[in-house]
Amino acid sequence: MIIGILKEPQDESRVALLPEAVKTLLSWKVSVWVETNAGARAYASDELYKEAGAEIHSRQEILMQSDLLIGIQPITQSEISGLKSGAVLMGQMGALFNPELTGYLIKEKKTAFSMELVPRTTRAQSMDVLSSMATVTGYKAVLMAANLLPRFFPMFMTAAGSITPARVLILGAGVAGLQAIATSRRLGASVFAFDVRQAAKEEVLSLGAKFVDVEGAKEDKGAGGYAVEQSAEYLQKQKDTIHEHALKADIIITTAQIPGRKAPQLVEERTVRAMKPGSVIIDLAASSGGNCALSQPEQTVEVNGVRIVGVGNLAASMPQDASKMYGKNYLNFLKLIIKDGNLNLNFEDDIVTGTCVCHAGNPISPRIIQMQS
Ligand code: NAD
Repeated sequence: MIIGILKEPQDESRVALLPEAVKTLLSWKVSVWVETNAGARAYASDELYKEAGAEIHSRQEILMQSDLLIGIQPITQSEISGLKSGAVLMGQMGALFNPELTGYLIKEKKTAFSMELVPRTTRAQSMDVLSSMATVTGYKAVLMAANLLPRFFPMFMTAAGSITPARVLILGAGVAGLQAIATSRRLGASVFAFDVRQAAKEEVLSLGAKFVDVEGAKEDKGAGGYAVEQSAEYLQKQKDTIHEHALKADIIITTAQIPGRKAPQLVEERTVRAMKPGSVIIDLAASSGGNCALSQPEQTVEVNGVRIVGVGNLAASMPQDASKMYGKNYLNFLKLIIKDGNLNLNFEDDIVTGTCVCHAGNPISPRIIQMQS
């Protein structure tokens, strides 16, 4: 069986599997073909892939010959139509939010897996690319904020006077938010955090941050640990509380998302205008509508001396470790579908079923079936 590793599009610096992961794959009695320069932007040269035992081929050869194609960003429809019959395609296709691509895979009778569909269960944790990439994003968001802030993060008592610690407000304490808290704390900031899920409170406190309470949040035990949409009354109460905290903050990092919905707006324009000049807002939800009223995807906007950064694919700004983590998630998943050097798709396994967009054109993941109905 040939496993093909694709080079990602121009704006993506990660690669799905680094040479170290190729070594593991080869021990499973498969061949690995890597597209020329696939790892270059993650500092993994073709030479390193060859030393690990892979063959370097052109994109065309890989698309036409591979039995299993592995990437991160989706490939084009014309490339999908040219795949070898029975080939399996894997990537992070955003299958639930990209009905055109999902519909095309089904129409063309393809078999495809989309890594963001990996169920968020304990057994699937080691395959969960959303969590590993959120770890990178939360960490990098703090470094980005520290870089833009015209102040120190830690407290200093020096002969040139005393410096008070920076005050960071984190909105949304999921995987990215918790990493942002931990990183801000390591840099010496005083950290406050807020989430609609009460379960997040304990985690926030255990990282040494203070929890901002807003009573009356709606929770749903059936939502798999995710947040659900809140009432207009609650959202207004929440915005007022955030407004009060924002006046004292130097940095706000927003991470609040609701799966499949527009991100909730938590920081109003009046709040930005009332913040201290020099403050920084990093909006990690900018591409799904934004948590800040003034953020623009992939842009930095300045209002009254407050910079608002609408972050895009932040994981790609740290391609070495992001690719390493992505590759480890992939290897853990591939262990479930490769047996004796061949593909073995066991649809009795909830992780395999949950991640599979379609098999020979039949929708498989319950979430995709629901989306199609
Ligand atoms: P996410 O990216 O969907 O959202 C980020 C955070 O924003 C969440 O904590 C959410 O509660 C919060 N949020 C949503 N609306 C908000 C609002 N109006 N105000 C404030 N905060 C709001 O979430 P995520 O980081 O992917 O993780 C969400 C949950 O899934 C967590 O409970 C996490 O522990 C759980 N999880 C479980 C696994 C696993 O078991 N394998 C893996 C990853 C995450």
